[in-house]
Amino acid sequence: MHAGGSRSRRVRAMNPKSSDHRVAWEAPAFANDILAFWRPRGTLSRAEREELLRAQVAATRPVISGVLCGGAVLLALVGALEALGWVPGIGYPGWAVLLAALATGAGALLMGRLRDWRARLPLMLACIAVLGVFLSLPPPGASAPLTLRAGLFHLLPIALLALMARRTALACTVALVLALALLRAHWHGAPGGGPALYWLYVLTTLAFGLLLGGYRVAFAVQMYRARLRLREQAITDALTGLLNRAGWNREAPARHAEAVRDGRGLSVAFLDVDRFKSINDRHGHEAGDRVLQTLGTLLRGREILPGTCARLGGEEFVLLAIDTPPVEFEAGIERLRARFRDAMLPLQATLSAGIAHHRPGETLAAQLRRADAALYRAKAAGRDRALVSD
Ligand code: GH3
Ligand code: MG
Ligand code: MG
Repeated sequence: MHAGGSRSRRVRAMNPKSSDHRVAWEAPAFANDILAFWRPRGTLSRAEREELLRAQVAATRPVISGVLCGGAVLLALVGALEALGWVPGIGYPGWAVLLAALATGAGALLMGRLRDWRARLPLMLACIAVLGVFLSLPPPGASAPLTLRAGLFHLLPIALLALMARRTALACTVALVLALALLRAHWHGAPGGGPALYWLYVLTTLAFGLLLGGYRVAFAVQMYRARLRLREQAITDALTGLLNRAGWNREAPARHAEAVRDGRGLSVAFLDVDRFKSINDRHGHEAGDRVLQTLGTLLRGREILPGTCARLGGEEFVLLAIDTPPVEFEAGIERLRARFRDAMLPLQATLSAGIAHHRPGETLAAQLRRADAALYRAKAAGRDRALVSD
């Protein structure tokens, strides 16, 4: 996304070799907005892009239907004004205009209900085409003042292009509007003001629609990124970068259930820093925080023991490993305790652990209860040790 205003910016780039100043031009910010349909989603993963696209389509679908319904009402009103003689007709009988308005309204309503975008797209294009023809494209040979009527039709793409999320729909709509404008100019000459003004007008309405749409997409991407960030923050422990309790509750039960279903091995361990309160008391809270960060870094590295780790609160950590044989898991916990003790030598901090390997049919909660009981026994036995639940 762009950070600055919408003025084009001159960027002075230093050439490190010759130390002369080169002046490079950066695209103006509004150009980024027009390109937003293609560009800013680039930094999102494929799954994220698809999630964002689905959300945008769901949010804009009813509004697109609304705009097309508005077009149908507009057409019906123009038909009524023609019938009253307040507006000159352009060659279609009153009943045909009314039928076209009804059909467009019905198509727009149906569009809002269709799930598959491949079915919605032709329906939308048909609605736009009917509106374009009956509002502003007289049958060949008919003579009609077109200036304002063409203007009325060209309000539609401004609104529609601002709402579309899919490039295919966008490209098809632009192509259809241009085709209708070409037919109008071909059969009837340019509406009052001459061809230059006419095409300037058509292209301007399309560009404004694209600009608004690009801005809307860029805004949607920005909001989506903010949501991803918040989602990440909500499940991350700020001090250690590990999962917090909420993150553990979201991830661990699912991984546990999946491993149980697939008959894979499962081990859990509770880890607790020994006499942590006295470390805080003797060396200060900040030193205590560094102890927790060190343990967090050792666990996050995953090279000692791969698995899902979380800080559940205070100086209590938990680890879930899948497919690690029990002996290897226990050796990993011992390696972790040794690495922690070495890193914490000046503070003389040690770590106790309670380990539980999965029993057939056991739930995660039951397995964790056994690991907790083993940790309790390790503390009672004098701390600085890992005990396995039997
Ligand atoms: P034990 O060997 O039995 O585990 O004793 P302990 O002192 O480690 O356990 P206790 O539960 O009595 O004390 C935990 C301490 O952890 C108390 C609390 O002040 C401290 N603590 C909790 N959260 C944090 C934190 O984020 N940073 C720091 N520095 N200390 C914390
Ligand atoms: Mg403790
Ligand atoms: Mg504790």
